[in-house]
Amino acid sequence: MASKIPNAIFNNGNSIPMIGLGTWGSPGGGQVAQAVKDAIDIGYRHIDCAMAYQNEHEVGEGVTAKIKEGVIKREDIFITSKLWNTFHRPDLVEGALRTTLNSLMLDYLDLYLIHWPVGYKEGVELFPYGPDGKTYIFSDVDYVETWKAMEKLVGLGLVKNIGLSNFNIKQVQRVLDIARIKPVTNQIENHPYLNQAKLTAFCADKGIIVTAYSPLGSPTRPWVTKDDIVLMEDGTVHAVAKKYAKDPAQILIRYQIQLGHVVIPKSVTRSRIVSNFDVFSFSLDASDMKQLAGLERNERISPEFGAYGHPHHPFEKEE
Ligand code: NAP
Repeated sequence: MASKIPNAIFNNGNSIPMIGLGTWGSPGGGQVAQAVKDAIDIGYRHIDCAMAYQNEHEVGEGVTAKIKEGVIKREDIFITSKLWNTFHRPDLVEGALRTTLNSLMLDYLDLYLIHWPVGYKEGVELFPYGPDGKTYIFSDVDYVETWKAMEKLVGLGLVKNIGLSNFNIKQVQRVLDIARIKPVTNQIENHPYLNQAKLTAFCADKGIIVTAYSPLGSPTRPWVTKDDIVLMEDGTVHAVAKKYAKDPAQILIRYQIQLGHVVIPKSVTRSRIVSNFDVFSFSLDASDMKQLAGLERNERISPEFGAYGHPHHPFEKEE
């Protein structure tokens, strides 16, 4: 069953549904499989996954169940996954993708991203912490070499599109300088507290679609503290929500869509998966878009603390 939701068009002419279901932190034990099945029934046709989320097998179960039921065909759904940081060495890239395909029970991905520009020590551990227990052991692979290996996956027919995640302006430019295949997207943290105006303008100028992660402010991220400010509780977000008779999450998702960003809110709660998708029957007017953008605090939820000191850390020495 084809999707009724709008698509964004990549620089290669392929398209991606503007909204997808996020799966980071979505628990196993049936919950994420159920969330994926609910999302597909509701009309989502885009699921955002990653090897590092360690739940791709269940996401695959959900997708496969809906294909078997005849609700969707494989080509109706857009599946993204991400190359984890311990697999940046070019000879490891295809194997990492094949592991993900195996978990997801798929024979190709619609989109494969380099999850972060920072490489970590290769090996069986996904999170190879050093002696302080806080900082990862780094690998010195340059992500431009990883990109060349990503390009080969397209040639093999294993992925339809390739892109980046968490790359800063200089890093995107370095990839563009050597790319045979241009990245189609940069998946980055984006919400009114972190609009990343320079980076999003740069991506737009280069024909790279922004995919907004943590659009709701990721309120249950593992390192959240009780003193952290909560985006969905922001007074301005609530006032705008009241004006349109929507909930704060719908306003934050609609905000991204009107910026031209693809957006991937995560939920394992059916009622929220429903309401988060109900964002195409209203528009925020220009003054409300401006008010929301004005909440900027340059407050980053996902700084990848464990990679501080890595020569390719995207934010640590950002100008
Ligand atoms: P998010 O989507 O901003 O927030 C998800 C949280 O909000 C969950 O705790 C969810 O709870 C809750 N929620 C969802 N809908 C809600 C609603 N309508 N009302 C109230 N609460 C609601 O955070 P995120 O998971 O960090 O980001 C979204 C996705 O982006 C991830 O899942 C992942 O796929 C991707 N991502 C990518 C990267 C990267 O490095 N590329 C980093 C972070 C995230 P319940 O699930 O309990 O309903």
